[in-house]
Amino acid sequence: MTAATDPIGQSRDLPLDGHLHTNLSPDSDVPIDVYAAQAVERGIAELAITDHVDFDPRYPAYDYADFATRERTVREAAERWAGQVSILFGVELTYERRHEDAVREHLHSHAYDYAIGSVHVGLDSPYVAARVAAFVAGNTLAEVVRPYFDEVEAAIRSGLFDTIGHLDFVKRYLYPHITPGDLAAAPELYEPLLRALVETGTALEINTSGLRQAASETYPSPAIVARYRALGGRRVTAGSDAHRADWFAFGLEEGYRAAARAGFERLTFRRGAEAATVDLPARAYEQRG
Ligand SMILES: [Zn+2]
Ligand SMILES: [Zn+2]
Repeated sequence: MTAATDPIGQSRDLPLDGHLHTNLSPDSDVPIDVYAAQAVERGIAELAITDHVDFDPRYPAYDYADFATRERTVREAAERWAGQVSILFGVELTYERRHEDAVREHLHSHAYDYAIGSVHVGLDSPYVAARVAAFVAGNTLAEVVRPYFDEVEAAIRSGLFDTIGHLDFVKRYLYPHITPGDLAAAPELYEPLLRALVETGTALEINTSGLRQAASETYPSPAIVARYRALGGRRVTAGSDAHRADWFAFGLEEGYRAAARAGFERLTFRRGAEAATVDLPARAYEQRG
């Protein structure tokens, strides 16, 4: 298998990596030009820079890089690389219901090309390493995922985001107490989230960072992407969620295949009248792999 078609590695010749963190996120030290140079070398046509913005002052992305700095850095890079790679000024906003008003206010007063809403596992969460084993032991699977999934459903229902990032990122924290196989056996747990995506027109992200983490599959799995399509979902996107240079475009080939096999012909990463799309490459439909 050549590098160009290896689904679990750094991909080549794809139209978009829709989720990237630079040194303007507290958990990344990658200058934007490093991604842009890799994009040119690997034939990735478009990048969405989606640095973190948090709304809880206990977290470093609360005030790590201000909007003006992020906007200027990304826009200037987009000009430097014009004609070689397209660079979108995006954001990954951490969603919690208790901060929904602040998220809304931020999005109303700051213009991004693209906004991902994501639920992360915070200090108060039952999924942190010190608590997760006891939490899993004392609850049913439905009860275990509920705190995370309820928050994700609220993020979708808020209508604030173009795309919901890593829909079941909680897989990372539940492993090995609960495996991806356990979740695959309970697809009904995902139904409220998928229906909310369909009803609000919010895009589902196929986040390929899970392929380099313990879950060893995308967030969410290809089966959930297919179920979203079957329920009427029409907007799907893909991103590597890279925080390091060697994670750029990692596993994206697999993410594109998941979209193609679910019946999608293109990625759509903006909502409403400003929907932006890129066609899937023909090879994503090949049966191999
Ligand atoms: Zn995230
Ligand atoms: Zn991210």
